[in-house]
Amino acid sequence: MRETKMNDGHYSMTPEDMLELVDANTIMVVPTFGQTFTGLYETVKPLSDALDTYEHDTGNSIDIHVDGASGAMLAPFCAPNIELWDFRLERVKSISTSGHKFGLAPLGCGWVVWRSKEDLPEGLVFHVNYLGGDMPTFALNFSRPAGQIISQYYNFLRLGFEGYQRIHNASYDVCEYLVKQLNKFNLFEFIFDGNREKGIPAISWRLKADANVPFSLYDLADRLRTRGWLVPAYTLPANAQQIIVQRILVKQGLTIDLANLLIADFQRSIEFLTSHASSQCNAADVKTFDHSGR
Ligand SMILES: *Cc1c(COP(=O)(O)O)cnc(C)c1O
Repeated sequence: MRETKMNDGHYSMTPEDMLELVDANTIMVVPTFGQTFTGLYETVKPLSDALDTYEHDTGNSIDIHVDGASGAMLAPFCAPNIELWDFRLERVKSISTSGHKFGLAPLGCGWVVWRSKEDLPEGLVFHVNYLGGDMPTFALNFSRPAGQIISQYYNFLRLGFEGYQRIHNASYDVCEYLVKQLNKFNLFEFIFDGNREKGIPAISWRLKADANVPFSLYDLADRLRTRGWLVPAYTLPANAQQIIVQRILVKQGLTIDLANLLIADFQRSIEFLTSHASSQCNAADVKTFDHSGR
């Protein structure tokens, strides 16, 4: 697997980045439809168009899988004007989504949808004679809990298109509000402002070059943590590792009231860090988010 590189001011895969890496052995290209680091959607149509030209020139046809972990449960509801990113593009053969993210199901629910049966190689499907009936399965093991799937199904029925649209649009509204409030500190340069046509309900920022404050975003994350907020500060991936960013992800339940409490804690933290200027934290000193759940 090859990954395109970020650098300052260039945070997602462009057709040029992609074309540098594809060759006759490439099976597929995987745009991240809702990047973890920034919240931005990688735009699928320009990649698909570039692959059309590439096929025309070389004869190699390369398919697209869309990693729609977050975006595939957001864009259909909240981004009616977004350029095509889904099965309406011929090259998109599969899309994956995490139900436990913006499907609002409990942890452990996700799915992949293939464009057609032919796009899932038969060799990957196990046919098992299970108590007499043929049971085709494309999973890692057999007996698994189904509660999260049933909860997902319930949410689909209970919320419907309009329900998801209202819930997720409310999250984007909170992003807009947070950006407006955070801008008042005049310290942050936004990498992504939570625009609903451009990414997930998240905002990410770095310190302005001329912020001239005696603290880093790691210090700020650390102070916010003492108030119970997990607003992680981290570096961007390869080639952009020198850029420290911070991110807020907004989901159902982060209301404007809560957002106001968060902003008040930003204010409190910034004042504290400014008046108690000391040595700065660096990445190694700060416990950010621990995915092990400990
Ligand atoms: C969360 C996420 C994943 C992992 O999906 P899970 O359903 O949590 O396993 C993959 N890609 C992106 C872009 C994600 O945001």
